[in-house]
Amino acid sequence: MKAELSSLLELQKIDSKIDSLKKDLDNIKEKARYDELQAGLKKLRAKEELFQKEQDQQSQVLDKINGELDLLNRKIENEQKKLFGGTISNSKELSAIQKEIESLSKKKDGLETSVLEQMDKVSALDDALTKTKEFIARDNEEAQKAKEIWQQKEDQLKAEISKVASSRDEQAKTVDEELLEDYEDIRKTKGGIGAGALVKGICQVCNVELPETEVEEIRAKDRPDYCTSCGRILIVKE
Ligand SMILES: [Zn+2]
Repeated sequence: MKAELSSLLELQKIDSKIDSLKKDLDNIKEKARYDELQAGLKKLRAKEELFQKEQDQQSQVLDKINGELDLLNRKIENEQKKLFGGTISNSKELSAIQKEIESLSKKKDGLETSVLEQMDKVSALDDALTKTKEFIARDNEEAQKAKEIWQQKEDQLKAEISKVASSRDEQAKTVDEELLEDYEDIRKTKGGIGAGALVKGICQVCNVELPETEVEEIRAKDRPDYCTSCGRILIVKE
């Protein structure tokens, strides 16, 4: 039994190693970073779509104003042709044309201001869109790099886990079946630790010093005993 108890302690070491590797597997920081970046990218892409839509709309408005301006310019040209063409000599008619040109020119000034304002709007949207695309490209690149590292780490950890797991199987064969079952049960309810060493009367799992008489009893026994403080199977080690 004593040798089997030592085997059990070795098994506990292997199991703890596997548990720790599995924990590492669940906590690869590049995976967390990748997820974080993907969530950010989703928001950025929605923003990009919104800016693009708005830019299309505002560009259409700009085209429309420019069209109106062209039309107005042609009207003014026509009126000017009439004014300077020499075919009209009636002064009343001429002054009416002049007034019309003045009124059209005022409208033109207004439209030209609108064009400038609208161009500012479109240009601001251009900038916002360009910046958003830059952020997307940057975060996308970082996400791909994070994914590469995360997958490398994952592959390494999985390979290591499977290696340790096969040595675990070998080690488990050296432990008495009943003792193994007992150990597994305790492991399930006590944070993965089912067995611990007793060194100089102190349980190495819970760090409680057991009374000398109890230690003597455990030493004398030829069957597993438990820590009276934490309930783990104790293996005496001096
Ligand atoms: Zn203990």
